Amino acid sequence: MLFDTHCHLNFPDFDSDRSEVVRRARDNGVVEILVVGTDPSGNRKAIEVAGEFGLRAALGFHPGHAEEAEPDLAEFRRALADPRVVAIGEIGLDYHYQVDRDKQAAVFRRMLDLAVEAGRPVIVHSREAAGPTLAALATAGVKRGVWHCFSGDVRLAGQVLELGLEISFTANLTYRRNEALREVARQVPLERLLLETDAPFLPPEGKSGRRNEPAFLPALAGALAEIKGVRPEAVAETTFEAGRRLFRNGRFDKDTSEV
Ligand SMILES: [Zn+2]
Ligand SMILES: [Zn+2]
Repeated sequence: MLFDTHCHLNFPDFDSDRSEVVRRARDNGVVEILVVGTDPSGNRKAIEVAGEFGLRAALGFHPGHAEEAEPDLAEFRRALADPRVVAIGEIGLDYHYQVDRDKQAAVFRRMLDLAVEAGRPVIVHSREAAGPTLAALATAGVKRGVWHCFSGDVRLAGQVLELGLEISFTANLTYRRNEALREVARQVPLERLLLETDAPFLPPEGKSGRRNEPAFLPALAGALAEIKGVRPEAVAETTFEAGRRLFRNGRFDKDTSEV
């Protein structure tokens, strides 16, 4: 059993065949999926998709949208009452984008404060902005969450773990040129790792140019098992538990325990 802890099944990329994508995921053992929002309309769609297919949802405000309307915190608070909503994200800083950095920081800060206030874990997106991201997390007092699509070095991994956040890899771990990242994965305890596809982005090695989907997650689990020198079942079991622990929601878990 695998847990795809970050994918964008709410995106229009999946509008024409979403139910088949979910079926293929389950056929491949991906029984838990967290649908991650990146902006207000995407958040609403994430909740809708999660409701339709019995999945989990996260409410985000991606740094790429920081120059658009400010987050409507009242709407976020209302949506947080939905039992399927298990996290705040994705949120963060992305200095690769030409988006005003002060605006990114302001949005990130508001969302971190909301997560702390609501007692929810965060899903952090950080690119070319590791230092400021770590500082913002520490200032806000965030202690639960995940640094998604990790692509940093061993030192950054240590800092993230020390804050109390988990580390999540996408299939970028399977790319031939990413030996340095595999070395990071070798050194992070398996208990602190989550798996994600970030679909429709980042298809695994051998499927480049195609739309990624949750059914491709076993390729990543297999690669991580090889890196760690353990059985794929051990990777599946340990990362599944880590995902359930971080993104549990008493009411939701009860609602779906018999599905
Ligand atoms: Zn991201
Ligand atoms: Zn994403």
